[in-house]
Amino acid sequence: MTKLIFEKTKENTNGINLIEETINFSFIDKKFLNEDSSSVLPEISELEVMRHYKELSDKNFCIEKGFYPLGSCTMKYNPKVNEVLSVLEDFCELHPHQDDEDSQGSLKLMYNLQEALKVVTGMDAITLQPAAGAHGELCGMMIVKKYFETIGENRKNVIIPDSAHGTNPASAAMCGFNILEIKSNEKGLVDLDALKSVLDNNTAAIMLTNPNTLGLFEEDILEISKLVHETGGLLYYDGANMNAIMGHTNPALMGFDIVHMNLHKTFSTPHGGGGPGAGPVAVVSKLKDYLPVPVIDFDGKKYSRKYDVKHTIGKMKAFYGNFSVLVRAYAYILLMGKELKDVSSYAVLNANYMMNKLKEHYLLPYDRKCMHEFVLSGDWQKEQGVNTLAIAKRLMDGNFHPPTIYFPLIVHEAIMIEPTESETKERLDEFIETMIQIAKEVKENPEEVLKHPLNTPVRKVDETLAARKPDLAYKKGKV
Ligand SMILES: *Cc1c(COP(=O)(O)O)cnc(C)c1O
Repeated sequence: MTKLIFEKTKENTNGINLIEETINFSFIDKKFLNEDSSSVLPEISELEVMRHYKELSDKNFCIEKGFYPLGSCTMKYNPKVNEVLSVLEDFCELHPHQDDEDSQGSLKLMYNLQEALKVVTGMDAITLQPAAGAHGELCGMMIVKKYFETIGENRKNVIIPDSAHGTNPASAAMCGFNILEIKSNEKGLVDLDALKSVLDNNTAAIMLTNPNTLGLFEEDILEISKLVHETGGLLYYDGANMNAIMGHTNPALMGFDIVHMNLHKTFSTPHGGGGPGAGPVAVVSKLKDYLPVPVIDFDGKKYSRKYDVKHTIGKMKAFYGNFSVLVRAYAYILLMGKELKDVSSYAVLNANYMMNKLKEHYLLPYDRKCMHEFVLSGDWQKEQGVNTLAIAKRLMDGNFHPPTIYFPLIVHEAIMIEPTESETKERLDEFIETMIQIAKEVKENPEEVLKHPLNTPVRKVDETLAARKPDLAYKKGKV
């Protein structure tokens, strides 16, 4: 076990010498100074500090270390040039309160990114403000709400399929909507009869992702959008799965009115550790006056932040969102250009390749051509006493990040695999072979499988305890 830095402390060892007499603390109000000298700071040399944190970071799993097929999360390779560009001094040191006049470069970058994302989605207007996908959903639902208020209709219901990401109903509920869940049919798609049975003039919106969370394309999407529009409702597109369709189709062609994108998923910002993301929201023209302010505008000469937007829902985030994520996304789009279409082609090809290699060994509940991801079930293995969680733990010993498990909720023992476009065939094969090997071990010696993981820094954690009673702070003398 790695020791805590507090346990490595050795009295009078210093990484830095703070010579007390040379620092005058008199400018700090006494009430803010800690009189209690019992508070501990680790005493440790600079080199040992470096080693400590390097050792910790080495324990982390990341895309640079190995295959990361976490379904729904699009853990693709994030080109390092994005990182370099996002910390350029001219971007980093620009204060968001600077006048538009002095911020033309950054405003231009945002404007150009907006234009590019409008092409990808087929939409007419956009905001870059929301900080993540779920925040984009909230923004979208606030727009839905304000739209119906403005046109004098009091619509209460938001329809969401049972395969949806949990953030969808949460976002709609936060805006005061009733959630009507509809069941998927035997093909894993929206059941049209179930949809018709809940649609009426109380329908504010339907929230859909296409391809859906099973990785399947909603074949009846045009019929669905026609039905919803006939009742006067709006269609919200959860764009987390955009990596499957770029350049092939878009939410506007499918009939959607509002869409969020997860720039940190599709457009390559490192994510997974809870770092900053971005969830731009694009809308059709009839909703453009509802977008949050400021809107980034261009009059042919100058870029500006526009605040007079007729029905604006207000602000979603301080200033104009997570700017450094926008820089990364713009760099990625410029880097890829028309090849964004190939990104989706390869993401889909890779997923179908893996699905077809694995379906003999694991139950595939919806055996159809998939898009960029697919969902297996661990039911066959569970019968032998090895559940999906144990399969995920076993994979960690193969230097793989486990896939998403137990989501979507409509598949028992779900194993949701998204390879992304950035992996080589050799890497895909390595993962396939390990999965097949695990299926074999489950048949031959299930007890052995349950012993994993053996090589991870922490082996089996009590996940309930960790979630309910997280103990994250060092207390003196107690570890
Ligand atoms: C990731 C995801 C979200 C939420 O996005 P965040 O950026 O994590 O807030 C919503 N829907 C689907 C389908 C997702 O995969």
